Amino acid sequence: MPEHILALRDIHKSFGETQVLKGISLNVTAGEVVSIIGASGSGKSTFLRSINGLEMPQSGFLDFEGLSFDYHPESRFFPTATQLQALRKKVGMVFQSYNLWPHMTVLQNVIHAPIKLLKIPRAQAIEEAEALLSRIGLYEKRQSYPARLSGGQQQRVAIARALAMKPSLMLFDEVTSALDPELVHEVLVLMASLAREGMTMLVVTHEIAFARDVSSRVLFFDKGVIAEDGPPEILRNPQSDRLRQFLHRIL
Ligand code: ADP
Ligand code: MG
Repeated sequence: MPEHILALRDIHKSFGETQVLKGISLNVTAGEVVSIIGASGSGKSTFLRSINGLEMPQSGFLDFEGLSFDYHPESRFFPTATQLQALRKKVGMVFQSYNLWPHMTVLQNVIHAPIKLLKIPRAQAIEEAEALLSRIGLYEKRQSYPARLSGGQQQRVAIARALAMKPSLMLFDEVTSALDPELVHEVLVLMASLAREGMTMLVVTHEIAFARDVSSRVLFFDKGVIAEDGPPEILRNPQSDRLRQFLHRIL
């Protein structure tokens, strides 16, 4: 049996009366690239945010690299603040809005967290950041401020910033949705190269071509549950009417 890097069991999350995640269970193996598709409001973002502790589920279990949480408030395995920090350090997340710090240069954006949180010496952090920036083709922009970069460049820097923390899992939430169409490709190419190198990734996306060609597995979210979970072939041959209708609407 392959080792699961992430195991979630029966995750429930509500906002007030609104049940958003209705008992989600998922095992992810190291190196898997999982695309998550589904209609707006089906709980995809809440799910990703629950994985790295940006949202706290009301109940459910999470196992990730030696951390074992039970989100039931009275459980003695309820995560401590220190354990949540440990989780966030190992799980990188990139959002639709690039969220770079506007008052910092590209290089400063990338070295900030490794120095602050991983306590990496500054010279080493710079060396590693420059290597990452070279890799994404933005070494020449290292002293530029984010506003001087295109949206696609900013989003690639946001990915580099997350990678600088040496995460063992990367979460992407519609990272190309805010980009002009001609800038989408460069970001998808970078994500595909990460996938090829074996990074474990959960990718919420409307880019069906990415889901089909790059991911090893596709989840279809519907109203707070995983309604389908299978290889990318389910995009060509959906098992449920719901997924068929969803694909029909977006393709
Ligand atoms: P998706 O990413 O699939 O579009 P979301 O996870 O963003 O879905 O949202 C699922 C539902 O949860 C929506 O009805 C949304 O309005 C609600 N929701 C998300 N975040 C909050 C919040 N912080 N407070 C209240 N409701 C929220
Ligand atoms: Mg969303």
